[in-house]
Amino acid sequence: MICNNNRVIATQFFRVAEPPGVRYLNPMPRTPTAIETALAALRGGKHRITKPRQKILTMLASDHGPFTIEEIHSQLRRGTCDLVTVYRNLATLEELGLVRRCDFGDGAYRYELNTAAHHHHHIVCKQCAQVKTLDLCVADPLERLAQQMGYTNVTHSMELFGVCAACQKKK
Ligand SMILES: [Zn+2]
Ligand SMILES: [Zn+2]
Ligand SMILES: [Zn+2]
Repeated sequence: MICNNNRVIATQFFRVAEPPGVRYLNPMPRTPTAIETALAALRGGKHRITKPRQKILTMLASDHGPFTIEEIHSQLRRGTCDLVTVYRNLATLEELGLVRRCDFGDGAYRYELNTAAHHHHHIVCKQCAQVKTLDLCVADPLERLAQQMGYTNVTHSMELFGVCAACQKKK
């Protein structure tokens, strides 16, 4: 659940039937190994595992979110670090590909863990702003194409928007 100082109110896991030829990702919800994977990637990249980094990753691994910077800051134990430190660490973790920034079109960026096993996308209801998780990614061929074009450090970002079944019934 997300705090209600913004429009996005809740997240739910939602699996679609597996279409042919589509890579399926590991099942949600997150497992404790998500944090292990993220910390191992930090170590492997010779990046220091500072207390704020560890706490931010642990928090993101324990709940799907995605969370705004303010929400992450308020969920860390008091005195862990200030908002600016959270902001800087999230930027570093995003650069390393361990954290993904989501834009649900309401003016607030939200962050979630992005280890390979947990990469997924979202669908946001345009009316009630509920967020559901799409545990599926079809971007592999696009990323390969970009790499063939000579690009490195290729990432992608995609959220879907629609009107949910409950909102359709309200009409
Ligand atoms: Zn997510
Ligand atoms: Zn809705
Ligand atoms: Zn994807």
